[in-house]
Amino acid sequence: MSSSKITAIVGANWGDEGKGKITDIKAGQADVVVRFQGGGNAGHTILNKYGKFALHQMPSGMFYEDVVNIIGNGCALNLEYLEKEIAKVLEIVPDLKFQLMLDQRVPLLLPHHILLDELEEERRGDRQFGSTKSGIAPFYAEKYFKEAIQLNEIFDDAHLKTRLEHLYEKVNLTLVGVYKAEPVKYMDIYERIVKFRPFVEKHMGDATAFLRKAREQGKNILLEGQLGALRDVGMGIYPYVTSSHTLAGFASVGAGIPPYAITNILAVTKAYSSCVGAGPFVAELFDEEADELRMRGGHAGEFGALTGRPRRVGYFDAVATRYGAECQAATQLAMTGIDVLSYLDEIPVCVAYEINGKKVTDFPAPSLLDIAKPVYEILPGFKQDIRGIRKFDELPENAKAYVRFIEKQVGVPITWLSNGPKREEIVEL
Ligand code: GDP
Repeated sequence: MSSSKITAIVGANWGDEGKGKITDIKAGQADVVVRFQGGGNAGHTILNKYGKFALHQMPSGMFYEDVVNIIGNGCALNLEYLEKEIAKVLEIVPDLKFQLMLDQRVPLLLPHHILLDELEEERRGDRQFGSTKSGIAPFYAEKYFKEAIQLNEIFDDAHLKTRLEHLYEKVNLTLVGVYKAEPVKYMDIYERIVKFRPFVEKHMGDATAFLRKAREQGKNILLEGQLGALRDVGMGIYPYVTSSHTLAGFASVGAGIPPYAITNILAVTKAYSSCVGAGPFVAELFDEEADELRMRGGHAGEFGALTGRPRRVGYFDAVATRYGAECQAATQLAMTGIDVLSYLDEIPVCVAYEINGKKVTDFPAPSLLDIAKPVYEILPGFKQDIRGIRKFDELPENAKAYVRFIEKQVGVPITWLSNGPKREEIVEL
C-alpha cells in the first residue's frame, strides 16, 4: 500500500499560480489525476504539443491516454459545461483518447445556481464580489443545505422528479420572492438532466473504491487543486474567497482518500504576485509599474483563464505565501514565472506588512488587510533571458540568490522552477 505515491498540487496564493502547467508535467508520470473541489469557475492553462488549452472542470491528465481523470465528490459538476469543454478539446485534437470518471457522489451544478449567482451579483451593485457567475456560491450553499442532487440520483425517474419538484419549490420562492425573477419549471431541468444519462452511465464510478485499489496497486495519484490557499472559504481572505476548500487537507474528503495517504504536498507559487478578482491585495502595484509587470507576464496571457479580466499584479508577497504554504501544509514548492522578472534592475520582495505602525510577518486577519502596507526588501535583478536554461547551476547568480531568498522566506524547499509557459521550460532542483 505504502508504495503508492500520492501528491497534492495546490496553490499557495490567490490562484493562477501556474498549477495547470505543473500538474501537466507531473501528470506524465501519474496514473490517476483527481480534481477534488471547485467547478467551472477557474481554469488551468495548459500549453502542450496540441496548443493552448484552458481546462475548467476536466482534470489536467486529459492529454495523457493512460491517465484516469477523476472529478471527485468535492467538485461542482456542471454536465452541460463539461460536455462543451470536452467538445472544444476534441475539435482541436479529434482523436484524443482520454479516461474520465465522475464520482457517484459529486453533486450537480444546475442552471438555477448560475441564475442565482448572476441575480445576487446584480443585487449587490457596487458591492459585488466579482463572482465568475458560474453558480459556485449558490451551489455550495445548496450542498450544505443538503438539497443538492448527487450524480447517482439521476437514473431513477420517480426519485429524480420528486427531488427536483421539492428542490424547485424552494428555489422558486427565492427567484420570485427575493429577485422578482421568473420561476423555473422543474420538468425542464429534469429534461436537461436525463439527456446526460448515456454519458453519465459511461463515466460514473465509485472514486473511493477506485482510489483504494489504485493505492493497493502502488499507482501514482495526483490530487489537483483549483485556485489557491488565500481563496479557501475558511482560511482565506474571507469573504473574497471561493465557496469551497482549496486546501490539500480537503483533498482527502473531496477526492475520497485517507488523509495520511497524502504524503507529498506541492504548493505552486509565482515568482511575483498575481490575482484575478476582488479582495485585499497588499503588495498590489498600480500604474506604469503594474502595466510593465502585467505586460511582461502578458506573454503568458496574464488574463484570467475564465473571465478574461486583467490580472492584478505585484512583487512577491512572502507574508501571504508563507501563510499560504502553511495552510497547504506544503512539503515542497514549485515557483513559476521567474522568467518574467528578467527585465528588473532590482527585485523588491514584500517581507512584512506594516499595520498601525507595527511590523508584522504573520499574515493578519482579513479585516486588517485593507490597512496593511507592504514592507519591501530589495534584491538585485538578474537582467538576463533565462527561458532556455534547464539546470539550476546555469542560472545567473542573482536569479539563484532570488530563489534561495524566497525559499528561506517561505520556509519550504523549492523543488521546481518554471521559467516559461511551455511544458519543457522547467528546472528541477
Ligand atoms: P493555474 O490556474 O494555477 O493553472 O494558473 P493559470 O493557468 O490561470 O495561469 C498561469 C499562467 O501562467 C498561464 O498563462 C501559464 O501559461 C503561465 N505560466 C505558467 N508557468 C509559467 C512560467 O514559468 N513563465 C511564464 N512566463 N508563464 C507561465
